[in-house]
Amino acid sequence: MMEKINYAEIVHRCFRCGYCKFSSDYSEINCPSYAKYRFETYFSGGRMWLIRAWMNGNVKWSEHLGEIIYSCSACRNCVEHCVFKFSEQLVDVFIAARSDMVEKGQAPKKVVEFFRNLAKFGNPWGYAAKVEVAREYVGNEFLLHAGCVAAYDERAKMALKALTEILDLAGVDYGMFSDETCEGNEALIMGEFGLFEHLMDKNKRKFEERGVRKVLTPDPHSFNALRNYYRMDVLHHTQFLWSLMKDRGLKTSRIDQKVTYHDPCFLGRWNAVYEEPRKILSKISTLYEMPRNRKNSFCCGGGGGNFYTDYLGGKESPARIRVREAAETADILVTACPACLMMLDNAARDEKVGVEVKDIAEILLEALKR
Ligand code: SF4
Ligand code: SF4
Repeated sequence: MMEKINYAEIVHRCFRCGYCKFSSDYSEINCPSYAKYRFETYFSGGRMWLIRAWMNGNVKWSEHLGEIIYSCSACRNCVEHCVFKFSEQLVDVFIAARSDMVEKGQAPKKVVEFFRNLAKFGNPWGYAAKVEVAREYVGNEFLLHAGCVAAYDERAKMALKALTEILDLAGVDYGMFSDETCEGNEALIMGEFGLFEHLMDKNKRKFEERGVRKVLTPDPHSFNALRNYYRMDVLHHTQFLWSLMKDRGLKTSRIDQKVTYHDPCFLGRWNAVYEEPRKILSKISTLYEMPRNRKNSFCCGGGGGNFYTDYLGGKESPARIRVREAAETADILVTACPACLMMLDNAARDEKVGVEVKDIAEILLEALKR
């Protein structure tokens, strides 16, 4: 069973000082939900205040209250920047409060729909569970786990195709499941622990029956669950692609345009993978960092199920703010997460900023083919 923290013990320790909503030099608002709404209830301290009031019966449940709790993208900026000892548990508090909402049947409608689709179809959109695969897994060295966004979203599928082309070019022995089921990371972060356990049991059984030993994934959310909860031998594609470049001496040409990199939260702040993507990009181009990078990265607003519920959408969405920042820095904005790719690519089109958004596999494939 997933362990739920006793958040009543923690919420009262927050001083509401507000440090957690900033970047480390306090120059920028770095909590994506606060950046969009600019109300105190939307940053970590304010959200704790609201949870405390809800627990004590001082505010009643409403759909709107549920939406505020679920608008946190679980980006961990507050974990990084709260100055107190309990900071490590901040996102756990929000997950535990969500779990209580789920248990009481009080999760917002869009969230319930997300869970229903996951439980019934194995993906959040309710598509028939049939994934287009480059090649079916038949006991290969690696299982390539696409994750729900790369499996079904058209833009993210293009990035997955670039990745499989690189794997083919490098002669990597991999296969995919055409009946891939969501590994459940978002169910966990959205507080549906029972659904997460169910998906994990189902996937683990399938992995065992089909002899899966090593997993490769382009999705940092899948990477997080497979690494930290399934306890699998798993690599994110940035780690694997860098090892291919280093160990197999893949020949690449230089990309002339200015390139910048957006750290996906579930790769960076959640799993401390900061350097491999930068090594890849520095080898094939000149990398220009945005002011907010690594532990100070500004979330695209897609985590914690927000890529589906869209509580952080609109003109001042975090993704739109991020592409404006990228356009001031470079010509190409590279990321390494299907959800970030989908969010940032849409935002760049909406904002009409002159920045192209690419997955790291796409730009690497270009450098390999030139
Ligand atoms: S979570 Fe930490 S940094 Fe944020 S308001 Fe509370 S005490 Fe201050
Ligand atoms: S995890 Fe991110 S979105 Fe959630 S409160 Fe903390 S900084 Fe804001």
